[in-house]
Amino acid sequence: MFEPVLTKYVNEPGGHTLDFYVQHGGYQALKTALGMTPEAIVDTVKKSGLRGRGGAGFPTGLKWSFVPKDNPKPKYLCVNADESEPGTFKDHVLLERNPHLLFEGCVIACRAIGARTCYIYIRGEFYHLQKQMEAELAKARQAGYVGKNILGSGEDCDIWIHRGAGAYEAGEETALIESLEGKRAQPRLKPPFPAVVGLYGCPTVVNNVETICNVPLIIEKGHEWFAGIGPDKNTGPKLFCVSGHVKKPGVYEAPMDTTLRQLIYDYAGGIRGDRQLKAVIPGGSSTPVLMPDKLDTHLSFDGMVAAGSMLGSAAIIVMDETTSMVWVAKNLTHFYKHESCGKCTPCREGVDWLYKILDKIERGDGEPRDVELLLSVCDNIGGKTLCPFGDAEIAPVLSTIQHFRGEYETYIRTGESPVQSDFRAAEP
Ligand code: NAD
Repeated sequence: MFEPVLTKYVNEPGGHTLDFYVQHGGYQALKTALGMTPEAIVDTVKKSGLRGRGGAGFPTGLKWSFVPKDNPKPKYLCVNADESEPGTFKDHVLLERNPHLLFEGCVIACRAIGARTCYIYIRGEFYHLQKQMEAELAKARQAGYVGKNILGSGEDCDIWIHRGAGAYEAGEETALIESLEGKRAQPRLKPPFPAVVGLYGCPTVVNNVETICNVPLIIEKGHEWFAGIGPDKNTGPKLFCVSGHVKKPGVYEAPMDTTLRQLIYDYAGGIRGDRQLKAVIPGGSSTPVLMPDKLDTHLSFDGMVAAGSMLGSAAIIVMDETTSMVWVAKNLTHFYKHESCGKCTPCREGVDWLYKILDKIERGDGEPRDVELLLSVCDNIGGKTLCPFGDAEIAPVLSTIQHFRGEYETYIRTGESPVQSDFRAAEP
């Protein structure tokens, strides 16, 4: 099994504290980075092949290089810690157990892009983390790792923790920026991308927590080390959140040439009760369902696309044979219905209709035309919204119909689920 680096000390008592972090080599990468030019830091991250860990897998060094150098406006770094994708809980572990790795990464990233201010936007529900993170941040400031004249270098960089109000949409980068500006978390049209016009109209890089946590490791151990982990173009250690019907759910760190089979059976102990695997959602609820014939696919950005889905936020939701796929679609649609920000009509209205139809089928009142109706509503949402929310909300419906159309049709014909479930999940 892979020797963890991002999560090496997460189970150590006191592992989140400044003292522990410094005793175990923490903030050495910052010292190295202070001796590097911003261009050299960007170049090192580019060479490492680091791709964004929030979901899209965009190359991090390339994103940083989009920040215009000749723009006299202030530059900002925003860390997206609004982790809300159903099934996703990897960033929470880093925020709670390794906050100094994040702070160190923030200061290095700010130096790379020419920013002096970083906002860490944590989701509203992370109120329990805010106090601890702020206490640790104060210690880092006191010790000279954050704030004015960092380690006597003349470099300034401050970090502020901002807690949202608990909206999934705030995790979309332009909605996050709106929220930071004090407005409702609703998306902006892209382009312009935040790297050019972001927070307060200034160049802004928005990066995920896990992405930034990789930065000190790349500076400390070298881009060759990072690029040597995992398959080509899918490099570095990766955190996977495994949930659902496995014996040992949790966050696992592994390279991206790990297969879905290895993650489920070797890392997570296999299926509960040694039952049959029915399907897997590999990258959070916005990504299409995969069938067991894809178990030997690499859990990489490119591997998952080739398999017909996406790595997304690396949230692997495992479903055994007792799972009703109509219920899965209804449950996830309920989430999206609740979280739609309401800005785009196809998303706001469409998701409500999807839920109503799925609920009708689940109640036993489905009609033969309902499957085609669901597909038609999806067609009127996909690609017709400002942000990826529209595409996300149709993924569970489209992919469950694609793979389990017979289950929908039997449910509609008989008025009952054809799946024998021995559990009753909470009704949405
Ligand atoms: P995206 O592909 O639009 O953008 C990815 C990043 O690259 C953005 O920061 C964007 O600004 C930047 N970018 C892309 N092209 C650019 C260009 N030409 N110039 C400058 N910058 C450019 O994707 P996205 O909307 O940021 O993210 C979508 C993903 O988010 C989904 O795949 C989903 O998996 C994931 N997601 C994650 C969570 C979570 O909790 N982690 C929640 C919801 C969705």
